[in-house]
Amino acid sequence: MTGATRGIGLAVARRLAAEGAQVAICGRNETLLEQVKAEHGFLGLAVDVAEREAVQAMIRWLMDEWGHIDIVVNNAGITRDGLLMRMSEDDWQQVLNVNLTGAFHVSQAVIRPMMKQRSGRIINISSVVGFAGSAGQTNYAAAKAGLIGFTKALAKETASRGILINAIAPGYIDTDMTAALTEQQTEWIKSQIPLGDTGKPDDVAGAVVFLASDDSRYITGQTIHVNGGLLI
Ligand code: NDP
Repeated sequence: MTGATRGIGLAVARRLAAEGAQVAICGRNETLLEQVKAEHGFLGLAVDVAEREAVQAMIRWLMDEWGHIDIVVNNAGITRDGLLMRMSEDDWQQVLNVNLTGAFHVSQAVIRPMMKQRSGRIINISSVVGFAGSAGQTNYAAAKAGLIGFTKALAKETASRGILINAIAPGYIDTDMTAALTEQQTEWIKSQIPLGDTGKPDDVAGAVVFLASDDSRYITGQTIHVNGGLLI
């Protein structure tokens, strides 16, 4: 699990652990990481997924610990919103580096062991914004749409080895990432959602558990939309 010290990632990690999985997490804030590890009994390292060598070292360490990695959830994500006209190169690059290149780093590091074991699941957390677009989020939309292409291509590359690659595209989920919205913005968003409310991290966790389970053994290269009907 990448980026699992809070929000959707933490909910997913807890659900996977409740289903009997041994869970390892990462995040950049070491203090929070240590707190979450101690509270839930997860393994984990303070790793920035944008750092290729740190990711490779983390996966080597986990392989030494466990001997196999069965499920990877590429969840770490950030936003740096702003209109394109004023977007800095740094805001563009950071969002691409974490949301898209981070998934590349982690997937590349685990794919060889998964190929050897002839099984594995990679679940990429995209966004409704990657499908519908969102003004002020060209960087984030590009990264999240990129993750969908990445998911489909890698699914084709690895299917013959029994590896399944899928994505989840959440809509508006109550986490720190959406906490910056004003009450007025939140009310407007809710008015656009057919189910009438924003989602909870556990709504996404349920979809991840399905994609990690035997019930999804014949599904690869697909996206599950968890958005209350926001995009139909
Ligand atoms: P939060 O901001 O609540 O949590 C993000 C998590 O990712 C934190 O644990 C954070 O820890 C970690 N993280 C961020 N950057 C990095 C990095 N470079 N390397 C490692 N870990 C990192 O976000 P959400 O839970 O809301 O989002 C989770 C995922 O779901 C993201 O990919 C997001 O884009 C996606 N999503 C969220 C939606 C929402 O409405 N909330 C909607 C659609 C998609 P730390 O800061 O310590 O590194």
